[in-house]
Amino acid sequence: MLTETDIVEVAIPLRLERTFFYKVPGSVKALAQPGMRVLVPFGRRTVTGYILGSGKGSFDGEIKEISEFLDREPLFSGKNAEFFRWISSYYLHPLGEVIKCALPAGLTVVGRTRSVVAPDGSTVSEDFLSKSTKHLEEKHFTPASKEPPASLKGKALAVLNFVNAAPESSLSSIKAALGDVSPQLKRLEELGLVNSCKKEVYRDPFAGHSVEKDSPLKLNPAQQSSLDSLLEAASTGLFAPFLLHGVTGSGKTEVYLQAIASVLEGGRSALVLVPEIALTPQLVERFRRRFSCGIAVLHSGLSSGERYDEWRRIKRGEASIVIGARSAIFAPLETPGIIVVDEEHESSYKQSDGLRYNARDLALVLGKMNSAVVLLGSATPLATTVFAARSGRLKELILDSRVNDRPMPQTSILDLRAKKSETISAELMEALRENLENRGQSLLFLNRRGFAPWLVCRECGFILKCPNCTVTLTYHQHKKRHICHYCDHSIPAPTLCPKCDGGEIGLFGVGTERLEEEVAALFPDARVARMDRDSTSGKGGHSRILKKLESGQIDILIGTQMIAKGHDFPGVTLVGVISADTTLNLPDFRGSERGFQMVSQVAGRAGRGDSPGKVLVQTLNPEHFALKAAVGHDYEAFYRQEIEDRRDAGYPPFSYLAAVQFSGNSARGVEGGAVSAALLLRSMRAKKALRLDILGPAVSPLGMIRGRHRWQLLLKSTRRDHLHALLKEFRAGFVAPATLRVSIDVDPLELI
Ligand code: ADP
Ligand code: ZN
Repeated sequence: MLTETDIVEVAIPLRLERTFFYKVPGSVKALAQPGMRVLVPFGRRTVTGYILGSGKGSFDGEIKEISEFLDREPLFSGKNAEFFRWISSYYLHPLGEVIKCALPAGLTVVGRTRSVVAPDGSTVSEDFLSKSTKHLEEKHFTPASKEPPASLKGKALAVLNFVNAAPESSLSSIKAALGDVSPQLKRLEELGLVNSCKKEVYRDPFAGHSVEKDSPLKLNPAQQSSLDSLLEAASTGLFAPFLLHGVTGSGKTEVYLQAIASVLEGGRSALVLVPEIALTPQLVERFRRRFSCGIAVLHSGLSSGERYDEWRRIKRGEASIVIGARSAIFAPLETPGIIVVDEEHESSYKQSDGLRYNARDLALVLGKMNSAVVLLGSATPLATTVFAARSGRLKELILDSRVNDRPMPQTSILDLRAKKSETISAELMEALRENLENRGQSLLFLNRRGFAPWLVCRECGFILKCPNCTVTLTYHQHKKRHICHYCDHSIPAPTLCPKCDGGEIGLFGVGTERLEEEVAALFPDARVARMDRDSTSGKGGHSRILKKLESGQIDILIGTQMIAKGHDFPGVTLVGVISADTTLNLPDFRGSERGFQMVSQVAGRAGRGDSPGKVLVQTLNPEHFALKAAVGHDYEAFYRQEIEDRRDAGYPPFSYLAAVQFSGNSARGVEGGAVSAALLLRSMRAKKALRLDILGPAVSPLGMIRGRHRWQLLLKSTRRDHLHALLKEFRAGFVAPATLRVSIDVDPLELI
């Protein structure tokens, strides 16, 4: 019989519901800590696992031994592990897979180290440590206390003086100052004038970019009273969730910065989530200007080495502020005192494959576990968030005007119903012309990239579609190809109809590429640029275009939702929305909300400088309540109607949702699987007398993606416990054929 000190609980990243127990070899007991990766025997294989903590209770029977430790130090703490357990249980996803998703991608196991110092300082046996994750090391030089000989001259003397003046200089910093001086360093070492040692260094994504520091702004009364509430809550040391509901340009970021500064003074750390970090370089800049403490930035643009280094800096407590996109919610912070979710309404906080989590929701869970302040900020908060605030579950702080009393932009709707074929209406064209004359900058927003989304044959009616997905192929003029935006399948542009060989084929619809061409033709003297996924590929693609706009080298910028995000461009005085309809008409109960957010956010880019802004919104639905509310800057009008609609239809916040999705290569196999799953769910519901609706099964709105057929079921209940009870039972009891993929999406955002 074993006692708990000899065994540890290990999660294994496989589709398994349970965790496993392993013996720790006596010589490496000091390493058996939560957050260490290990190799363990599993059946006939050896697999990677994560230590969660010591095994509780005692165990009979055979328990195998850990074969190897993969880390020198833990990647997460026992407290982080509790958070991962919560995620696993709520999203019905295996714990090992949750941890694998949480850890920085691309952790590689390379090289061999001989001995390792355990976290408690003891050196541990090498038998169990034959491999280790690669850390970057660099030689550092310190002066020895020895008089240099008089014969030392020239470059060698310069190097010695440099090292004397700056002990512990790294090789790269010496080289940066003096050029390649490797031979001189070698000689100085041989003469015993300097000593060298290898020290770990981090790959620094900010290397070479220094910023000028700034200081806190004097807050206006609304900002100050928000900050006061936050600080009062922070001082209690209890969980305190807030919604900072402030119109675009009302100074929310300044409130975040000052609240964070105060929490840091209290010795706790801060986590800041942003929708997509590559799109918000300005925000990161503002943090770097304000704070001199360590800031870690986690985002998809980092190399895997950089990401791993940032992760370890956080784990070691060397970064007090972590800024990142949704996956930063997993950062191994020990004592976060404040968690900010900027633009809390953004759907990019939801991951929609693998572990289907929502970082915005998890911020509240993490905040509760850590007794932290959670601050959700937005100009257009989710209706569900405002409902929660007004039901007393979080506190709403309001900033209802722009800083320095700048007016909200003058916004109007342009009714396109009578002029369906126009891309740019006469009114929008006139406004663009006028703005150009006044040397103002304009943004044109169109949520569709490429040149044209449809190729149609006028003779036989053929429409060019993707063979693997239920969507049309979009023509990209730059590449002269028709491309699928879901699977990247592409074909060269045909000259004849692929079906009837007729010559009467035409391109219909407008994407950003075509809009750019039209605008350039209309305004030949204007400097026109485009910002979408195609024009910003490669590192620094976004910031290059944003910098040009900022420095006034662009008159008209055309873009997708990339230009709608939190940027602050004082020179932009006109914003045109080419069509508000694509978002409004999504086959989803959140269509109106998305439309409202999109128009409000794009409009918010106008008039942030000294000249007032103007916004024109083209639409075929001029009477839509969400559009009218957005144009009138009237969140309350939107909220009242939206919440009524949700109540009538029984959608969140008046119910909880989960989707069960089925996909596979055979249409009949997927249908059969979905139908039998629905039968099983309904019989389980009856047996346990659970109160919930089961809608479907039905073909998903996008019936095929990447050659896989898709069906889905929607579960809806006013009782979250009933919903989870059924899903748990279903997951344990439904046996799917190997060719069918079944996934559960708790709190789905998109039902497509
Ligand atoms: P939001 O995040 O609400 O869109 P920001 O925090 O970006 O707004 O603020 C908009 C602009 O106003 C920024 O340029 C910011 O520096 C400035 N600003 C914010 N608060 C103040 C203040 N109290 N006094 C002067 N300028 C401010
Ligand atoms: Zn496709």
